[in-house]
Amino acid sequence: MTQTNIVVIGGGFGGLYTTKHLAKKLKKNKDVKITLIDKHPYMTMMTSLHEVAADRVDPSALKYDLQRLFSRRKHVDVVTDEVTKIDQKSKKVIGKNGEYPYDYAVLAIGSQPNDFGTPGVKEYGFTLGSLDDADRLRNHIDLMVHLGAQERDPERRKQFLNFVIVGTGFTGTEMAGELNSWKPELAKRYNLHPDEIKITMMEMAPTVMNMLDRADADKLKNT
Ligand SMILES: Cc1cc2nc3c(=O)[nH]c(=O)nc-3n(C[C@H](O)[C@H](O)[C@H](O)COP(=O)(O)OP(=O)(O)OC[C@H]3O[C@@H](n4cnc5c(N)ncnc54)[C@H](O)[C@@H]3O)c2cc1C
Repeated sequence: MTQTNIVVIGGGFGGLYTTKHLAKKLKKNKDVKITLIDKHPYMTMMTSLHEVAADRVDPSALKYDLQRLFSRRKHVDVVTDEVTKIDQKSKKVIGKNGEYPYDYAVLAIGSQPNDFGTPGVKEYGFTLGSLDDADRLRNHIDLMVHLGAQERDPERRKQFLNFVIVGTGFTGTEMAGELNSWKPELAKRYNLHPDEIKITMMEMAPTVMNMLDRADADKLKNT
Protein backbone atom coordinates (compact mmCIF):
# COMPACT_ATOMS: atom_id res chain seq x y z
CA MET A 1 0.00 0.00 0.00
CA THR A 2 1.48 3.40 -0.93
CA GLN A 3 1.46 6.12 1.68
CA THR A 4 -0.23 9.48 1.05
CA ASN A 5 1.70 12.38 2.55
CA ILE A 6 -0.07 15.57 3.56
CA VAL A 7 2.29 18.35 4.62
CA VAL A 8 0.88 21.35 6.46
CA ILE A 9 3.28 24.29 6.61
CA GLY A 10 2.64 26.68 9.50
CA GLY A 11 1.23 25.84 12.91
CA GLY A 12 -0.79 28.99 13.55
CA PHE A 13 -4.59 29.03 13.79
CA GLY A 14 -4.95 28.04 10.12
CA GLY A 15 -2.43 25.18 10.04
CA LEU A 16 -3.34 23.89 13.47
CA TYR A 17 -7.05 23.56 12.78
CA THR A 18 -6.41 22.14 9.31
CA THR A 19 -4.19 19.45 10.84
CA LYS A 20 -6.67 18.79 13.62
CA HIS A 21 -9.61 18.36 11.25
CA LEU A 22 -7.65 16.24 8.75
CA ALA A 23 -6.29 14.04 11.56
CA LYS A 24 -9.81 13.42 12.85
CA LYS A 25 -11.32 12.83 9.44
CA LEU A 26 -8.53 10.51 8.28
CA LYS A 27 -7.81 8.68 11.53
CA LYS A 28 -8.90 5.34 10.07
CA ASN A 29 -6.80 5.75 6.90
CA LYS A 30 -3.61 3.97 7.97
CA ASP A 31 -1.94 4.88 4.69
CA VAL A 32 -2.15 8.64 5.30
CA LYS A 33 0.60 10.54 7.10
CA ILE A 34 0.20 14.19 8.07
CA THR A 35 3.30 16.29 8.75
CA LEU A 36 2.86 19.66 10.43
CA ILE A 37 5.90 21.92 10.03
CA ASP A 38 6.48 25.16 11.90
CA LYS A 39 9.67 27.13 12.45
CA HIS A 40 8.80 27.22 16.15
CA PRO A 41 8.04 24.22 18.37
CA TYR A 42 4.96 26.08 19.59
CA MET A 43 1.83 27.71 18.24
CA THR A 44 1.68 31.44 19.03
CA MET A 45 -1.64 32.84 20.21
CA MET A 46 -1.33 35.89 17.95
CA THR A 47 -4.57 37.40 19.19
CA SER A 48 -2.94 38.29 22.52
CA LEU A 49 0.29 39.88 21.26
CA HIS A 50 -0.80 43.33 22.42
CA GLU A 51 -1.14 41.95 25.97
CA VAL A 52 2.53 40.91 25.91
CA ALA A 53 3.54 44.25 24.34
CA ALA A 54 1.87 46.08 27.23
CA ASP A 55 3.38 43.81 29.90
CA ARG A 56 0.06 42.34 31.10
CA VAL A 57 0.80 38.78 30.02
CA ASP A 58 4.01 36.78 30.06
CA PRO A 59 5.16 35.64 26.57
CA SER A 60 5.17 32.00 27.74
CA ALA A 61 1.36 32.17 28.15
CA LEU A 62 0.99 32.60 24.38
CA LYS A 63 2.96 29.48 23.46
CA TYR A 64 1.20 26.15 22.91
CA ASP A 65 3.50 23.15 22.51
CA LEU A 66 2.70 21.62 19.09
CA GLN A 67 4.14 18.17 19.95
CA ARG A 68 1.89 18.00 22.96
CA LEU A 69 -1.20 19.14 21.06
CA PHE A 70 -0.81 16.20 18.65
CA SER A 71 0.77 13.62 20.99
CA ARG A 72 -2.27 11.35 20.72
CA ARG A 73 -2.42 11.45 16.93
CA LYS A 74 -0.12 8.65 15.77
CA HIS A 75 -0.37 9.56 12.10
CA VAL A 76 0.62 13.21 12.71
CA ASP A 77 4.32 14.14 12.79
CA VAL A 78 5.17 17.55 14.19
CA VAL A 79 8.43 18.96 12.83
CA THR A 80 10.28 22.11 13.83
CA ASP A 81 11.88 23.50 10.69
CA GLU A 82 11.81 26.68 8.60
CA VAL A 83 10.49 26.03 5.11
CA THR A 84 12.49 27.78 2.42
CA LYS A 85 11.04 26.29 -0.77
CA ILE A 86 8.34 24.07 -2.21
CA ASP A 87 9.65 22.03 -5.12
CA GLN A 88 6.57 21.22 -7.17
CA LYS A 89 8.54 19.10 -9.65
CA SER A 90 9.87 16.62 -7.10
CA LYS A 91 6.84 17.21 -4.80
CA LYS A 92 9.02 18.06 -1.82
CA VAL A 93 8.76 20.74 0.83
CA ILE A 94 12.30 21.92 1.51
CA GLY A 95 13.27 23.13 4.96
CA LYS A 96 16.53 24.30 6.52
CA ASN A 97 16.87 20.94 8.29
CA GLY A 98 15.27 18.48 5.92
CA GLU A 99 13.04 17.63 2.97
CA TYR A 100 9.45 16.42 3.23
CA PRO A 101 7.77 14.60 0.34
CA TYR A 102 4.14 15.54 -0.20
CA ASP A 103 1.11 14.49 -2.21
CA TYR A 104 -0.84 17.43 -0.83
CA ALA A 105 0.72 20.56 0.68
CA VAL A 106 -1.15 23.16 2.70
CA LEU A 107 0.47 26.58 2.98
CA ALA A 108 -0.60 28.32 6.21
CA ILE A 109 2.36 30.58 7.01
CA GLY A 110 0.31 33.63 8.00
CA SER A 111 1.12 37.18 6.99
CA GLN A 112 3.65 39.97 7.52
CA PRO A 113 2.87 43.48 8.76
CA ASN A 114 2.70 45.87 5.80
CA ASP A 115 4.13 49.40 5.92
CA PHE A 116 2.84 50.20 2.41
CA GLY A 117 6.33 51.55 1.59
CA THR A 118 5.87 54.52 3.96
CA PRO A 119 9.30 56.17 4.38
CA GLY A 120 10.75 55.89 7.88
CA VAL A 121 8.51 53.09 9.13
CA LYS A 122 11.16 50.37 8.75
CA GLU A 123 13.86 52.46 10.44
CA TYR A 124 11.85 54.04 13.25
CA GLY A 125 8.60 52.14 13.63
CA PHE A 126 7.65 48.98 15.49
CA THR A 127 5.38 46.24 14.20
CA LEU A 128 3.20 43.85 16.17
CA GLY A 129 3.18 40.63 14.20
CA SER A 130 5.13 38.13 16.32
CA LEU A 131 6.17 37.40 19.89
CA ASP A 132 9.59 38.92 19.18
CA ASP A 133 7.85 42.11 18.00
CA ALA A 134 5.75 42.18 21.18
CA ASP A 135 8.87 41.73 23.36
CA ARG A 136 10.72 44.47 21.50
CA LEU A 137 7.79 46.86 21.82
CA ARG A 138 7.32 46.22 25.54
CA ASN A 139 11.03 46.82 26.23
CA HIS A 140 11.02 49.98 24.12
CA ILE A 141 7.96 51.47 25.84
CA ASP A 142 9.41 50.70 29.26
CA LEU A 143 12.76 52.26 28.30
CA MET A 144 11.15 55.41 26.85
CA VAL A 145 9.09 56.02 29.99
CA HIS A 146 12.21 55.40 32.10
CA LEU A 147 14.22 57.93 30.04
CA GLY A 148 11.30 60.38 29.93
CA ALA A 149 11.01 60.36 33.71
CA GLN A 150 14.69 61.32 34.00
CA GLU A 151 14.54 64.06 31.35
CA ARG A 152 14.34 67.62 32.72
CA ASP A 153 13.95 69.46 29.39
CA PRO A 154 10.11 69.73 29.00
CA GLU A 155 10.09 69.35 25.21
CA ARG A 156 12.36 66.29 25.19
CA ARG A 157 10.43 64.83 28.11
CA LYS A 158 7.20 65.10 26.08
CA GLN A 159 8.87 63.38 23.12
CA PHE A 160 9.93 60.41 25.24
CA LEU A 161 6.44 60.05 26.66
CA ASN A 162 4.35 60.41 23.48
CA PHE A 163 3.41 57.10 21.83
CA VAL A 164 1.85 57.15 18.36
CA ILE A 165 -0.08 54.14 17.08
CA VAL A 166 -0.60 54.17 13.33
CA GLY A 167 -3.68 52.31 12.13
CA THR A 168 -6.97 51.93 13.93
CA GLY A 169 -7.76 48.35 12.98
CA PHE A 170 -8.07 45.66 15.63
CA THR A 171 -4.33 45.46 16.33
CA GLY A 172 -3.80 49.23 16.68
CA THR A 173 -6.93 49.76 18.73
CA GLU A 174 -6.27 46.85 21.07
CA MET A 175 -2.67 48.03 21.51
CA ALA A 176 -3.88 51.54 22.39
CA GLY A 177 -6.30 50.11 24.96
CA GLU A 178 -3.62 47.93 26.55
CA LEU A 179 -1.12 50.78 26.66
CA ASN A 180 -3.70 53.01 28.29
CA SER A 181 -4.28 50.37 30.97
CA TRP A 182 -0.52 50.04 31.52
CA LYS A 183 -0.08 53.80 32.04
CA PRO A 184 -0.79 53.95 35.81
CA GLU A 185 1.66 51.12 36.52
CA LEU A 186 4.38 52.64 34.32
CA ALA A 187 3.85 56.03 35.93
CA LYS A 188 4.16 54.51 39.40
CA ARG A 189 7.26 52.52 38.38
CA TYR A 190 9.09 55.65 37.16
CA ASN A 191 7.54 58.18 39.50
CA LEU A 192 5.69 60.50 37.11
CA HIS A 193 2.06 61.49 36.57
CA PRO A 194 0.10 59.07 34.31
CA ASP A 195 -1.27 62.02 32.28
CA GLU A 196 2.27 62.78 31.12
CA ILE A 197 2.16 59.58 29.04
CA LYS A 198 0.29 60.45 25.85
CA ILE A 199 -1.16 57.96 23.39
CA THR A 200 -2.04 59.22 19.92
CA MET A 201 -3.85 57.08 17.35
CA MET A 202 -3.45 57.95 13.67
CA GLU A 203 -5.73 56.87 10.85
CA MET A 204 -5.82 57.93 7.19
CA ALA A 205 -9.58 57.32 6.88
CA PRO A 206 -11.95 59.90 8.43
CA THR A 207 -13.35 57.21 10.78
CA VAL A 208 -11.81 54.57 13.07
CA MET A 209 -12.23 50.78 13.26
CA ASN A 210 -13.59 50.68 9.75
CA MET A 211 -14.02 46.92 9.68
CA LEU A 212 -16.76 47.20 12.32
CA ASP A 213 -20.37 48.11 11.93
CA ARG A 214 -20.49 51.97 12.04
CA ALA A 215 -22.66 52.13 15.19
CA ASP A 216 -20.24 49.84 17.10
CA ALA A 217 -17.20 51.73 15.81
CA ASP A 218 -18.72 55.08 16.88
CA LYS A 219 -19.28 53.71 20.38
CA LEU A 220 -15.58 52.89 20.54
CA LYS A 221 -14.62 56.33 19.20
CA ASN A 222 -16.49 57.95 22.06
CA THR A 223 -14.85 55.87 24.84
C1 LIG B 1 -2.42 41.85 18.14
C2 LIG B 1 -3.36 41.02 17.29
C3 LIG B 1 -4.66 40.81 17.70
C4 LIG B 1 -5.53 40.03 16.92
N1 LIG B 1 -6.81 39.83 17.37
C5 LIG B 1 -7.63 39.06 16.64
C6 LIG B 1 -8.96 38.78 17.10
O1 LIG B 1 -9.37 39.24 18.17
N2 LIG B 1 -9.77 37.99 16.33
C7 LIG B 1 -9.32 37.44 15.15
O2 LIG B 1 -10.09 36.72 14.48
N3 LIG B 1 -8.08 37.69 14.70
C8 LIG B 1 -7.24 38.48 15.39
N4 LIG B 1 -5.96 38.70 14.93
C9 LIG B 1 -5.56 38.09 13.64
C10 LIG B 1 -5.18 36.63 13.84
O3 LIG B 1 -4.18 36.51 14.82
C11 LIG B 1 -4.69 36.08 12.50
O4 LIG B 1 -5.72 36.24 11.54
C12 LIG B 1 -4.31 34.62 12.62
O5 LIG B 1 -3.27 34.43 13.55
C13 LIG B 1 -3.89 34.10 11.24
O6 LIG B 1 -3.64 32.73 11.37
P1 LIG B 1 -2.67 31.98 10.38
O7 LIG B 1 -2.63 30.55 10.79
O8 LIG B 1 -3.06 32.30 8.99
O9 LIG B 1 -1.24 32.66 10.59
P2 LIG B 1 -0.35 32.74 11.90
O10 LIG B 1 -1.13 32.68 13.15
O11 LIG B 1 0.54 33.93 11.67
O12 LIG B 1 0.54 31.42 11.82
C14 LIG B 1 1.49 31.23 10.83
C15 LIG B 1 2.48 30.19 11.34
O13 LIG B 1 3.38 29.87 10.28
C16 LIG B 1 4.68 29.75 10.79
N5 LIG B 1 5.60 30.03 9.69
C17 LIG B 1 5.72 31.20 8.99
N6 LIG B 1 6.65 31.07 8.04
C18 LIG B 1 7.14 29.80 8.14
C19 LIG B 1 8.12 29.08 7.43
N7 LIG B 1 8.80 29.62 6.39
N8 LIG B 1 8.39 27.82 7.81
C20 LIG B 1 7.72 27.24 8.82
N9 LIG B 1 6.76 27.89 9.54
C21 LIG B 1 6.48 29.15 9.20
C22 LIG B 1 4.75 30.77 11.92
O14 LIG B 1 5.76 30.43 12.85
C23 LIG B 1 3.34 30.66 12.50
O15 LIG B 1 3.27 29.72 13.55
C24 LIG B 1 -5.07 39.46 15.69
C25 LIG B 1 -3.75 39.67 15.28
C26 LIG B 1 -2.89 40.43 16.06
C27 LIG B 1 -1.47 40.62 15.60
